[in-house]
Amino acid sequence: AKADGRNDFRFFDQRLQARLAGLSEMEADLRLAIGRGELQLHYQPQVDGDGAVIGVEALVRWFHPVRGAVSPGEFIPIAESSGHILQLGPWVMQTACETLAAWAHDEVTAALSMAVNVSARQFHHPEFVNQVIAALRLSGANPMRLKLELTESVLAQDLGVIAQKMSALKALGVTFSLDDFGTGYSSLAYLKRLPLDQIKIDRGFVRGLPGNANDAAIVRTVIALGQQLGFEIIAEGVETDEQLDFLCRHGCQLYQGYLFGRPVPLHALLPVHDETPVP
Ligand code: C2E
Ligand code: CA
Ligand code: CA
Ligand code: CA
Repeated sequence: AKADGRNDFRFFDQRLQARLAGLSEMEADLRLAIGRGELQLHYQPQVDGDGAVIGVEALVRWFHPVRGAVSPGEFIPIAESSGHILQLGPWVMQTACETLAAWAHDEVTAALSMAVNVSARQFHHPEFVNQVIAALRLSGANPMRLKLELTESVLAQDLGVIAQKMSALKALGVTFSLDDFGTGYSSLAYLKRLPLDQIKIDRGFVRGLPGNANDAAIVRTVIALGQQLGFEIIAEGVETDEQLDFLCRHGCQLYQGYLFGRPVPLHALLPVHDETPVP
């Protein structure tokens, strides 16, 4: 039994080492990814109750030369722990703002908003506010069209300091959404003490609609709570007409999910304006 235990340990140790090596390899690649142009933004539509597109969420994609497409669910946590998020985050912000600025020139796209995900380390960096301001100035994007999505991991710190950073950007017109609401160590204090504009109901609760009684109760309550506190409510991960119907009947205002469109590259997002006259 003793020998077995040692073997188990060695096996575990090897796997752990491989895993650690794999991670640091990914870390090293991530550092180069921006410069090599391996990162791209995809955009997923957000729609209102009439199905009209009111904006998009920018979602980063990494096309690794060997690994292929790496999911942000995999590499964002690595970027966060390694500190590469401090390059990646500003790149996402700048790129999203450039897209937003380009949209201002076309009346079809001028009113669209751009939601950008902000990670905890990025938000808490002392230069965060300045970086957002720089991205807005350099691109010429309208701050009123920029929405920053914060998760509860961002908010697990001094709420006074967080509110100050938010207020500095809100003074320019930037708005804030509380992403994945209900999944973290949700505290109703966030809703009271932070200058939020929108609550995003997590996909995990939408998934069980309308059949799962617990999900249905939570979603109804979150919508009612958000409405009474004056927040806009958006639901993510809407995949079926039944989910949409439930959300709509209970007062949800905005929707995002595969039912309306998957995240796609910029060129695939909006109908291309072909100005060549038909011969
Ligand atoms: P998130 O912010 O909650 O983004 C929503 C995720 O749900 C996206 O996954 C999106 O593709 C997916 N999704 C959207 N609609 C549906 C649907 O109807 N059904 C299902 N099953 N999934 C749907 P994605 O793009 O893989 O991103 C995963 C997470 O990675 C994001 O979750 C976000 O936390 C993070 N992330 C993505 N881009 C960025 C970024 O630029 N910066 C930071 N800090 N995090 C990012
Ligand atoms: Ca998000
Ligand atoms: Ca989300
Ligand atoms: Ca989510």
